[in-house]
Amino acid sequence: MTDRFSIIKNGNYQHERTGIFATFHGNFPTPTFMPVATYGVVRGVSAHDLRKLGAKVVLANTYHLHERPGENVVRKLGGLHGFTGWRGPWLTDSGGFQVTSLSSKVTITDNGVSFRSPLDGKLRDLTPENAIRIQGALNSDIAMVLDHCVPVTDRGGGKPSYSQVKDATKRTYHWAKRSLREARDSSQSLFGIIQGGEYPVLRRKSANDIGSLDFEGYAHGGLGLGEDLLFRDDVLEEASQIVPHDKPRYLMGLGRPSDIIRAVARGIDFFDCVLPTRHGRHGVVFTSEGSLNLKAARLAESNEPPDLNCSCHTCQNFSRSYLRHLFRIKDQLAGRLATFHNLHHYFHLMAEIRKTISQGNFREFSNAKLALYERVL
Ligand SMILES: [Zn+2]
Repeated sequence: MTDRFSIIKNGNYQHERTGIFATFHGNFPTPTFMPVATYGVVRGVSAHDLRKLGAKVVLANTYHLHERPGENVVRKLGGLHGFTGWRGPWLTDSGGFQVTSLSSKVTITDNGVSFRSPLDGKLRDLTPENAIRIQGALNSDIAMVLDHCVPVTDRGGGKPSYSQVKDATKRTYHWAKRSLREARDSSQSLFGIIQGGEYPVLRRKSANDIGSLDFEGYAHGGLGLGEDLLFRDDVLEEASQIVPHDKPRYLMGLGRPSDIIRAVARGIDFFDCVLPTRHGRHGVVFTSEGSLNLKAARLAESNEPPDLNCSCHTCQNFSRSYLRHLFRIKDQLAGRLATFHNLHHYFHLMAEIRKTISQGNFREFSNAKLALYERVL
């Protein structure tokens, strides 16, 4: 196995660094942000749009594609690249988190996860082995192992007990070993996932266990679910010193721009999050001066672009007033234009992060941006 990840520069502030990840479908620079295309589409955004916006790698969900249209359809149509038209790198998550959070009747045993499909009520099984096989059929460039995620706060609103999380973390380790034994195409990378809930000792144990296995990258699962920010900072920083230094680290499902900046400082290289696209569809845009709700009545006659300092297609061509109007009449262009801006904002943020790490001024950039992102316009 050749090394797919190369570190270009270690920063001079905390654990931040820049790198390049190489795949069969192209290379991309890190730290990187992956827009979320759950069903093989970033909602309302075509592959052509994504390329123009500067996307480098896109995330799809194994479980949802398994349900619809089914991995065999995707495989016959040329894998995710041929089926969707996004011919750059794809990462697929394993679907374990979606299964445990979407379906009400889930049984988790050491063998895997059994659940009733919300689509047709039929019993489905997800195991470490078939999660790898499905991702093989989808032909993603980076596959994720099946893990057992216990949310920091359980459905009843209580906190899962130490022994519950300990069992889930142990199971995640055994599943990780089984995933590595399952055959897969050599062009596909496989990342392991660290769990441990909100218990520092379990997070540490999981980082040691998963970090001892021969993965091509190491992810953090089960964060961004309401935990304390300082706890998260510590967990990420500690794990970055445990897992192999020369492999990428991925914080799954996070987050706001401020979450990303904080995590980059703790050594994270990969991010994905639904926020820029989901917020865009609901009329909230991230700007260089804080977040802005485009539906606000005070914007009715504003001739300003969403963000005065943005070079995206939306900001170069449309006013806040017109965008507010589109949201009010519920035209689908509204969500598309706001999503374009938000994705541009995230990709631009990642480019600035990489630039300031290379130039040695990430600390100043980070301090200035963290203060700014707390503002709501
Ligand atoms: Zn813009």
